[in-house]
Amino acid sequence: MKYILGAKCVRCGKEYEAVPGLTTCACGGILDIVYDYAAIRRDFSPKDLAACRDNTMWRYRPFLPVEEGSAPPPLRVGWSPLYKADSLARALGLKTLYLKDDGQNPTSSLKDRASALAVVKAREAGADTIACSSTGNAASSLAGNAAAAGLSTYIFVPRRAPKGKVAQLRIFGATVVSVDGSYEDTFELSKAAIDRWGWYNRNAAINPYLSEGKKTVTLEIMEQLGWQVPDYIALSVGDGCTIAGAWKGLKDLYAAGFIDRLPRLISVQAEGCCPINRAIQTGEPWRPMEENTLADSIAVGVPRNPDKALNAIRESDGVAVNVSDGEILDAMRLLGRTQGVFGEPAGVTGTAGVKKALELGLISPESTVVSIVTGNGLKDVESGIRAAGEPLVVPPDMDALLSAFAEAGIAP
Ligand SMILES: *Cc1c(COP(=O)(O)O)cnc(C)c1O
Ligand SMILES: [Zn+2]
Repeated sequence: MKYILGAKCVRCGKEYEAVPGLTTCACGGILDIVYDYAAIRRDFSPKDLAACRDNTMWRYRPFLPVEEGSAPPPLRVGWSPLYKADSLARALGLKTLYLKDDGQNPTSSLKDRASALAVVKAREAGADTIACSSTGNAASSLAGNAAAAGLSTYIFVPRRAPKGKVAQLRIFGATVVSVDGSYEDTFELSKAAIDRWGWYNRNAAINPYLSEGKKTVTLEIMEQLGWQVPDYIALSVGDGCTIAGAWKGLKDLYAAGFIDRLPRLISVQAEGCCPINRAIQTGEPWRPMEENTLADSIAVGVPRNPDKALNAIRESDGVAVNVSDGEILDAMRLLGRTQGVFGEPAGVTGTAGVKKALELGLISPESTVVSIVTGNGLKDVESGIRAAGEPLVVPPDMDALLSAFAEAGIAP
């Protein structure tokens, strides 16, 4: 790998060679991939990207930890749209807002970015089977990307995972183990099974390559903004791998001279499950919490990547804000009605956090903010209906329609 110097433990600083099967440090710390930014700067520039026709995350190959000869996996991952969300900005009283709709990835979540990278690394490691535990989206994205590449998958999900996500898993041919327990229990069982059978491990908090895939979301945002740095980037946080990856992408661009400053992160969690934000807000070490929110993708009581996530929020001088389930459901409706974007609960939590941060005066209404929608609403139809309600039911008759309209206060 031309631009990779190695990997370094974020806790103790120990350095490792970047072999494909790399996991955590002997001390238990998570590793970070280290690049030769001077070499990237010499060989690669925004101009090369302007001429690049590869509209996928692989357009950033010099910033990715894959061998030069490795083919990208078949599904199109990345290059999701960045919308200037003027109606929503007006509704929120914010000067400039952009929405990055990562629900438009092949399996409908940002997790595809990590899973695509996992598939390449598994092939480099000579593995034919990949496994992970997940609240749902890491699993469905792994199953889809692996199926396209001809690899088999063993997936562990907590029993509460929404049906849409489980349906994806079954359709993509994964062996699915639905664990009757918390996400923590699910993670531990998957770990024991991976140790026992030697599968390639796609758990993002153990495999240091995965946040490198996730970082492509901020590489794209910056390119789509013409390298003009926003004031804030908002996103929802569960294990913490996504926010850590988003920050790594920004720091990579800064170190390679593509951008001249760094934005601040807005870390958004659910009130009922916010161990990472609580650590930021209190200045104390993080402690486990119950998983008490309908936003299943971020219902993570024991975050698996707290070190990198806390570093990212602190280094960026970030803002931590928690939202209630009611505020998440409100944000689902608001995004749908003002911008035509349908996000799952955790997918819109970042936007709910932008609204809340404005209300609390944590960010200025004059700011430029990018909010990442991390997953599509069709994955969790039940929550969509809960947010927006049931339709009018009428018999096939005009008089009945008229009285139903009158009753509901609808005047066409
Ligand atoms: C996984 C996920 C997140 C949070 O990512 P973490 O790496 O767990 O912090 C947010 N939104 C959606 C839709 C997700 O699937
Ligand atoms: Zn270490």
